[in-house]
Amino acid sequence: MKEKVVNLIHELRERSSEPICAYIYDLDGIRQHVSNMLSVMPAQAGLFYAIKANPDARIIEALLPLVTGFEVASAGELLKVRGVSETVPVLFGGPGKKDYELELALSHNVSYIHVESLLELRKLILLARERKKDTHVLLRINLRTDTLPQTKIQMGGRPSPFGLDELFIGEAISLLEGADNTHVHFSGFHFHSLSNNLQPDVHADMVHYYLQKAAEWKSKYDLDIKVINAGGGIGVSYDDTPGFDWQRFTSLLVQTEFPSGLEDVQLYFEPGRVIVADHGYYAAEVVDIKPSQGQNFAVIRGGTHHNRLPASWGHNHPFYVVPVESWPYPFPRPEIRQGKVTVVGELCTPKDRLHTDAEVESLRVGDVLIFEKSGAYCWTISHHDFLGHPHPEFYYITGGEYQ
Ligand SMILES: *Cc1c(COP(=O)(O)O)cnc(C)c1O
Repeated sequence: MKEKVVNLIHELRERSSEPICAYIYDLDGIRQHVSNMLSVMPAQAGLFYAIKANPDARIIEALLPLVTGFEVASAGELLKVRGVSETVPVLFGGPGKKDYELELALSHNVSYIHVESLLELRKLILLARERKKDTHVLLRINLRTDTLPQTKIQMGGRPSPFGLDELFIGEAISLLEGADNTHVHFSGFHFHSLSNNLQPDVHADMVHYYLQKAAEWKSKYDLDIKVINAGGGIGVSYDDTPGFDWQRFTSLLVQTEFPSGLEDVQLYFEPGRVIVADHGYYAAEVVDIKPSQGQNFAVIRGGTHHNRLPASWGHNHPFYVVPVESWPYPFPRPEIRQGKVTVVGELCTPKDRLHTDAEVESLRVGDVLIFEKSGAYCWTISHHDFLGHPHPEFYYITGGEYQ
């Protein structure tokens, strides 16, 4: 893959003298990766892609023949998926759904709406009755437990705006079973408690805990549970920490005994990050190098307005250097040899930093940095128009070719 990216950079250098700034998405790599993931999943498991990690239509198209469906969290995301396929199964989650979003979910054939609050459930019951539209829901539950794995981002197992506090399940079931409800059907539970978990064993324990809780509620409320959605949150390592061992995780799932009454339940996963992170590359040319009070800074054509993940997480984003030989100016080319460099963007803020004190063999103005692992939560979470610099170009590798 590195060779393909390097070739593309040289091609771009030939094509134009403007500083290079581009995202490269390896659709072949994403397809291969997801096929590998699917090949070891238990039969009753379903894999949905949470498009907020990267809602690029080309990625959705690439995944369409592989995944069970897509998870969306807004009207905009729903329409994006429906723009690619009218029929693919869709899960609709997210806090603060507006009436127009619930209506859109009803009219656009969403498989399951993830109910995030009692008010939302009341509104949905009303709208579905008025529109005479049947719909199926999973109740998103925020568990009251301190046994969930601790990760950088937590959505559950603590006070949070996500899902229903476990305490309100009874009330939600009463609403669903009430005389006012004519069209909203209960199908199961949804959990998405954390993001970027790197430990397969604790992830499997967590899923097991979800199943046990669901079994408890099944007998307590006499429920017919068809689906348990165990959410996303499978991690990607951005440093030397080992990545999430998916094979180990799925082998633990295969061994998991499903609680009695839930033997035939569909177990869904809806990861985003782990599907796309490793197959996106952010390429940005070094436009200046300067020593300042004992440190070296490399300024790139680009920055956190294109790739906000390192600033958002406060991490050093991994990159490699593609050397570019041409130097069109009549004066010397600034260069660092065997030294440390802090890589910053073109924005007028000290927050625009992608890597602090990276060790480089050689770095010259005009070389291109390739930030790896830039497929998830990079472009899509960034403030693209802050300072008004041009957006990057987008390239796709598919069938071994660039497009
Ligand atoms: C963001 C999100 C996901 C995907 O999370 P990852 O950490 O990218 O796997 C899945 N489900 C819900 C409800 C989400 O909000």
